[in-house]
Amino acid sequence: MDRNDVLAGFRARFRLPDDENVVYLDGNSLGPLPASVPMRMREAVEVEWGRSLVRGWNDAGWIDLPARAAGKIARLIGAPADSVAVCDSTSVNLFKVLAAALSLRPERKVVITDVANFPTDLYVADGLARLLDRGYEIKPVQFDQIEAAIDDTVAAFMLTEVDYRTGRMHDMGAMTAHAHACGALAIWDLAHSAGAFPVDLTGARADFAIGCGYKYLNGGPGAPAFLFVAEKHLPEIAPAIAGWMGHLEPFAFSPGFVPADGIARMTSGTPPILSLVAFDAALDAFDGVDLASLRVKSQQLCDYFIAAVEANCEGLELATPRDAGVRGSQVSFRHPEGYAIVQALIARGVIGDFRAPDIMRFGFAPLYLRFADIHHAAEQIGDVIKTGSWDEPRFKQKAKVT
Ligand SMILES: *Cc1c(COP(=O)(O)O)cnc(C)c1O
Repeated sequence: MDRNDVLAGFRARFRLPDDENVVYLDGNSLGPLPASVPMRMREAVEVEWGRSLVRGWNDAGWIDLPARAAGKIARLIGAPADSVAVCDSTSVNLFKVLAAALSLRPERKVVITDVANFPTDLYVADGLARLLDRGYEIKPVQFDQIEAAIDDTVAAFMLTEVDYRTGRMHDMGAMTAHAHACGALAIWDLAHSAGAFPVDLTGARADFAIGCGYKYLNGGPGAPAFLFVAEKHLPEIAPAIAGWMGHLEPFAFSPGFVPADGIARMTSGTPPILSLVAFDAALDAFDGVDLASLRVKSQQLCDYFIAAVEANCEGLELATPRDAGVRGSQVSFRHPEGYAIVQALIARGVIGDFRAPDIMRFGFAPLYLRFADIHHAAEQIGDVIKTGSWDEPRFKQKAKVT
């Protein structure tokens, strides 16, 4: 299968560990280092910062970096470049777009979300509702009941397209259309979508979206995040975090806030240039990548992994949909000793992660994974479980980050 892989050549765009036993199945948590990043970082630190000093903002084009990175992300998420901003974290961006959505539906008080949504999304929504103190109800419902829960009392839904635990995927177009038919707005979290497979925000007529820079986009630990606002909403929204970078004329230093015309109004403070340099260079790994092939290979990798793991061992319950059409780019299995099994696998170089309470999660990034890697990983999983080699105290010690 590797010989027929049209994306095989893109693996060279990443700097993966030399050790052949290392199979990286955690690019959905932290993407690996793209080969273009180290040199670009060195130049940014030593030449641009070191020699240009403050002149770097103009001379090295630092001030335009967020828009440049946003343009590269726009293609991956099916959005016009000028409706995407790179800034802040996913959590902060959710706060901003949810506040904007609520301001567009002032008479409605309900926000629908998934009970199993990523906790930060739930915390941010609850925090905003508390802050606004206007009787907002953040209503978490079960995956299958979300559509029915959206009616004409709902201001907006905020859903993560792909569930971070199970990998189950919402139908973005259908759910958005249903919300619109009820007069509600659609906010999509693309944390487990952007860079894993093509997203079509324009086609789905999404109102708002947010997403992560450090997962499938490989922007580096704590990379800035992105946000999207549909063009028609932009003129009507005032940023909840009105910072000087969102001002029409930041360097007029005027005391009153006047929002920038475009998507820049949704940005707040000074962009983190070193992180952006890495992120912008990392995004070049997607240059010339046919996004439809990305989806095809992602589905093949996941199918291959499920079949190989199930052939190698018993006692694992598949937590991910078998149907590739409703699955993101990850495969999860449940096991009561999932944490220890994942640690034992990591000790052998097969790097996945564990999500409480019992999910062993494996992410599949089509640009650098080979079918041979998947084969090796599945063999190791089978071996760890059959031999019970996970059953050691050192594999049960919980680290700070899981
Ligand atoms: C990873 C992830 C986040 C992370 O948010 P940060 O602000 O970057 O910590 C948010 N939402 C979802 C759905 C995620 O998967």
